[in-house]
Amino acid sequence: MNEIYQASDLASGKLAALTPPARLSVFGDPVAHSKSPVFHNAALRASGIDAQYVKIHVRPQELPAALRALPAAGFLGTNITIPHKAGALAAVDEADDYARKSGAVNTVVVKAGQLLGFNTDGPGLLRAIREEFSADLRDLRVLLLGAGGGAGRAIAVQCAMEKCRRLVLVNRTAEKAAHLAAELAPFFQRGPTDRILAIPHEDQFLREQLAHTDLIINATSVGMKPADAPLLPASLLTSSLLVFDTVYAHDKTRLVTDAEAAGARAANGLSMLLHQGALSFEIWFDRPAPLDIMRAALQSAT
Ligand code: NAP
Repeated sequence: MNEIYQASDLASGKLAALTPPARLSVFGDPVAHSKSPVFHNAALRASGIDAQYVKIHVRPQELPAALRALPAAGFLGTNITIPHKAGALAAVDEADDYARKSGAVNTVVVKAGQLLGFNTDGPGLLRAIREEFSADLRDLRVLLLGAGGGAGRAIAVQCAMEKCRRLVLVNRTAEKAAHLAAELAPFFQRGPTDRILAIPHEDQFLREQLAHTDLIINATSVGMKPADAPLLPASLLTSSLLVFDTVYAHDKTRLVTDAEAAGARAANGLSMLLHQGALSFEIWFDRPAPLDIMRAALQSAT
């Protein structure tokens, strides 16, 4: 079940001929790293569904045709990962409000031959924050690093839709965060005037804003490689902070280690990965996902 298939396998009938037949997948480029098959196949088995979930290597130029091939290949849907989430939004027939606002689709459903797009990254984060910290985004003052990336935008939109108490958008390329703050400002019209703002990724600005922050979220790709430089100086972290690192490449990312050393509560992105997957399952099958089984499968694979 760890095999990597190609986009051309969708049209050839090879995937439908597997036992059990492939009916779900993740499209990515690269896709080898994806942990989604591990917990989705556990969920399918536990639910008695005669189908398997496979990894398909889809290059950018292949994406529209690969999506269009899903109905004839007998697929129920697919997940979409790097770098295709924006391309999938452009290629589906319809997308829900949150996916459109996020500019990205990570879950596609095949329904009556049509492709419907959803995004479970933000709702997955919402559930992960509840699980890790027993806290709701709407009650928190959030500082989001990496607001200019795909995941960062989805998380910022989720925070805005939850009307979190305060949202500080930080990005290495500062203009991207400034544009996003202007776009999301209508969600923050009530209350104090500085409920949403963008700052450059510089220590002096971070220090100032962290004094008014409950939750730091890292949505940058920093921390994926062990040799990555720290995302922010450890001296800026304090015990009153909650720190959520969407990176899940390591059990203890540098940010999680530094946060815990400062006495803060911290978690890596595995719970977000789990919950975004469980939400995809719920969209495909219109029933609760077997979360404990999915969690155990994910834990045994990491
Ligand atoms: P992306 O679109 O390529 O965005 C990368 C972001 O990281 C951009 O904001 C970029 O800033 C920033 N960045 C890159 N290098 C940086 C550096 N050296 N210093 C400061 N900022 C830097 O990637 P993505 O798809 O959003 O993914 C971002 C992260 O989210 C990845 O680590 C991924 O693992 C994680 N993620 C986790 C889950 C989960 O379920 N846990 C789901 C989705 C994504 P610029 O705009 O300046 O380039």
